Formats: sequence, structure tokens, C-alpha cells
Amino acid sequence: MKVYIALKEWLAFHAMKVLGESYNKRNYKKIRISLFTTIMAITIIPLLIIAGLSYNNYTDLLIKEERDQLESRLDKSIRAISAMVENLRTVIEFSAWQDRYDELTVQANLEKLFIRLKQHYTFFADIGVIDSRGIQQSYYGPYDLEGTDYSNEQWFTEVLESGIYISNIYLGFREVPHFTIAVSSFDPNSRKKWVLRTTIDASTLQNFINTIKTARIDDLFLIDQIGIMQTSSSLYGEAFSKYKEKRAVSNEYSFYQTEENYFHGSGRIKKTPWTLVLVEKEYVHQQDWLDFRNRLATIVLLCIIIDVLIVYGLANLLTNLIRSSDEIHMKLLQEAEHSDRLASIGRLAAGVGHEINNPLAIINEKAGLAGDILAVSPDFENKEMITGCLESIGKSVKRCSTITHRLLGFAKRQEVKNQQLQVNDVLKEVMVFLDNLMLTNRIKIESQLQYDLPEVFSDQMQLQQVFLNILNNAIDAVGKDGHISIMSHVVAGDVRVVIQDDGPGITDDVLPHIFEPFFTTKDSDKGTGLGLSITYGLIKKLGGDITVRSQVGKGTAFTITIPVEN
Ligand code: ADP
Repeated sequence: MKVYIALKEWLAFHAMKVLGESYNKRNYKKIRISLFTTIMAITIIPLLIIAGLSYNNYTDLLIKEERDQLESRLDKSIRAISAMVENLRTVIEFSAWQDRYDELTVQANLEKLFIRLKQHYTFFADIGVIDSRGIQQSYYGPYDLEGTDYSNEQWFTEVLESGIYISNIYLGFREVPHFTIAVSSFDPNSRKKWVLRTTIDASTLQNFINTIKTARIDDLFLIDQIGIMQTSSSLYGEAFSKYKEKRAVSNEYSFYQTEENYFHGSGRIKKTPWTLVLVEKEYVHQQDWLDFRNRLATIVLLCIIIDVLIVYGLANLLTNLIRSSDEIHMKLLQEAEHSDRLASIGRLAAGVGHEINNPLAIINEKAGLAGDILAVSPDFENKEMITGCLESIGKSVKRCSTITHRLLGFAKRQEVKNQQLQVNDVLKEVMVFLDNLMLTNRIKIESQLQYDLPEVFSDQMQLQQVFLNILNNAIDAVGKDGHISIMSHVVAGDVRVVIQDDGPGITDDVLPHIFEPFFTTKDSDKGTGLGLSITYGLIKKLGGDITVRSQVGKGTAFTITIPVEN
């Protein structure tokens, strides 16, 4: 027992050293967290970048598309208003050309012309003919303007120079918004220029703008050169209010966004003092776009949630794989350490066996000689006691030589000699060998051997030794009238042998030690504690495995796995 404890302590010390150096316990929680964060970062960052870039590109595209559309709508509106103004101008020019100066200075003719015009164009408010000096020669309308002198008016000079003049909208005497169109013509008789001037109700312009304004356009209005609104606006108030955007006034064409998320486009209407302003709410601030953005955000969020779940599962799976690989690694290390331990014991056993065998032989021989001498010697005091002592020496020497023989035998059997063999045959041989012992103890043996068991490539002698050791232990465990069952079958391509007994079983505190060398629970004259450790070493050397299941009071089962190919 002392030898066992000393050996055990020495081995435990070395095992701890080996295991401690080669295996560091990992923090799996940390591994799981770092795997999770790394995979999340790898998957989420590109997803967010792609989503962000797509969103930005899409927004830019939309804004560009929106601007193009606004430009096209503005262009169409300008062309429509220009056409309308051009139409008015043509009508007035045509009147001036057809009804000559002499005719129109006659009040009755001017009245006729006005009535004719009014039949087609209800918006004409009045009409007047002005001579080359700027004096109104005839006038038809609600005021008495005949004889009015326009020679100093800016517009009069302009109309003589460029042939046409269109005024801003103004209130005039009637306090009704209207504007003036004047055209100049040449009188062949006097060889001088004269001017036909008409006033037009501004509501005409407002109505026309209302007609061309489509549902997509939020606001459409005219401003003059200093930004005074010529028609009313739904966003910036009634006519004659001030439009605050200077860009619209100063440029031929302008496009700009305002703080209220409106997109403005403005363009001059040629040959008039007006600039047309078209206003649209930016698409990116409209409900459709907001809905789209919400949908996009929901999809991205869903992707992130799914990603989190998948990555969490993956991180768990990988961590578990690392953990089980570590466990296998640990087990292999332990097994290697165990085999190493057995190999050292093998060498130790050979040494010890050899060294002790010779002195034992001498003790045996000398004790025998002393016995022989004593037998032929005459009786003397204490003769019987000395004879008893010599017998006791003989018995102890016998036990010692059993142990040394076993140790030597173990050391010798290190070499493996593999051959094709049938495990069932090996089992049967071992059973024949133990037949007498079983009969004496009235042990019932029951065997269930798979008849078509594949042959294995293994060492017959060593397998015999393995089965013998286990069956010997089973016989010891069941005692008289016990039961032992032996079963062979194939599991996952390997041959498996189960040897089960209905002995007392092994307690939990003993079970972890049964494969350790020199561990025994038997009396010193019965057990050496080497059987199972040798068995373990052999089976590992043959590439197989051995496991044990035991229940106190019910029995013990050893399972031996032997690979078909070694
Ligand atoms: P030994 O048989 O010389 O004691 P072993 O290494 O063969 O040495 O066995 C170690 C110990 O394992 C035994 O002393 C016994 O306590 C236990 N053991 C082995 N086989 C059985 C069994 N079938 N039933 C109960 N105990 C067992």
C-alpha cells in the first residue's frame, strides 16, 4: 500500500506538470463574445455601408430627376405664357396694321374695333391711339383720356424704339389690377410712327396661370423685375406682395431649394417684364418618400435582427466546437499521460522484477537449505518455531515471485504481433482456460457472440490477456453461484465485447482508480492491483478502448472496443 501511495504521488505531480504546461483553460464566454462581435462587425458594417450608399445615391438620383422634371414643367409653363402674350400682341398688331392710323383716330372706328375685339377677347378694358408726339388722338374706354400727353413716359419711348411694350400689372384709377400692351406702327401718309395702346384685365393672366398649373405644381406665379408679385400665390400671398428670393429676379433661369423644403425654378418671359416662378415640394419630403424610407429602415432593421440571430448561433456553435475540441485534446493528453505512465511502469517493472528475482531465488534456496538441514537435525529447543519461520519465509518468497513474474511478463509483452483473428475464438479459448475455476465456483456463464463477427487485425496473446484479466476480476467479484455474461457485436465498424457480472459493483470512490497501477481493494495475497492497468495499456496499444459501467449491488460491465483494422 505504501508503494502504491508513493507512486501515485509521484505520478500525480508529473501529470499536473504536463497538463498544466500544455493546456490553458480558456475563457469560453470571452471567446463567444469576441466571435460574436467580430462576425457582427464583418457582416453588419458592409450591410450598413451598402444601405447608406444606396440610400444616398437614390436620393441624389431622385433630386436630379426632380430638378429635370421641374425644369421641363417650368419650360412648358413659360412657353404657354409666352404664347398667350404673343397671341395678344399679334391681335393688337394685326388691328394696328389693318385699321390704319387715319381710320382709328376717328372715334367711331376705334369704338367699332374695340367692340369687335371684345367679342373675342372679353378681357380688353380700353383702347387708345397715340400719335408720334405722344398725344392720345382717340380713346375708347371708361375714362376720358383723349388728348392725354404720353411724350414724357418711359414706355412711350420704348414702344417707339422696339415696337412693343408690355407693362407691369398696376391698379390704375379703377383700383383693378390690369396691364398695358402697346404696339407701334408706321403711318405711310404722315411717314411717322403711331402707337395703338390697350389695357387688359390682369385676371386674364391669373386665370391663364390657374389653367396651366397642374396638380404636381404647388405654386405658379409671375413677378416683376424688382420681385413684386404680379399674380397671386398660394404660398407667398396675393398679387403686389414682395417675393423674397432675389435669385429669381436677377437671373434668366434659376433653380434653388428653400428652407421650407420647396424646390423653386424661375425663368424670364421674353419681351415682358415678368419672371415666372414655379414651386414644388421636394419629393424627399413628401409622404411617398417618407413611406419608402420607413420601409427601407424596416428592411435594414429586419436584416440586422436576422443577422444577430444567425451570428449568435454561429458564435455559439464555434465556441462549442472549440470547447469540445479542447475537451478531446484534454482527454488525449490524459490518455497519453496514462499510457506514458504505464510505459514507465513497464520499464520500472522490468527493472524491479529483474533486480528482485535473483535475491529472491537466493532467499528461497537458502531457506530451503536451512529447512533441509533442520529436518535432519536432532530436536532442540525452538526447532518447531524455526521450522514455522522458514515455512513463512517460503510463502512470502512465493508471493514476491508471483508479483515479479507478472511484472516481467508485462514488460516482455510490450511487443505487438498482429494477425488476422476472430475475437469470438479468443473469447472461447479464454473461457476454456477458466472452465475449471467456473465449475468449482458454480458460476453460470452466458455468451451471446455475434456469429458473423468480422475478423480483426490484432495481437492474439495480448487480447487473451485482456479478456483473462477482466474475467478473473469478474469471477472474484461474483464469488460462488454468480452470473457472468459475455457479448460480442459490431458497433460503428468496430468489434465490441461486453463482459458483465452480477457482483457487488464498484463504489464511486473506487471507480476512478481501478485502472491505476497497484490499486487494489483485494487482500494482499489475492490482488496486486496490476491487472486492469496492464489491460488498459494493452488495449490502448492495440488501438482499442476500454470503459466501465458499474452499479453498487447490481454488478459491473466492462466494454472493450477493438478496431477491425489496426
Ligand atoms: P486486482 O484484481 O489485483 O485488485 P485490478 O487492477 O485487476 O487489480 O483491479 C483493480 C480493482 O478494481 C480491484 O481491486 C477491484 O476493486 C476493482 N474491480 C475490478 N473488476 C471488478 C469487478 N468485476 N467487480 C468489482 N470490482 C472490480
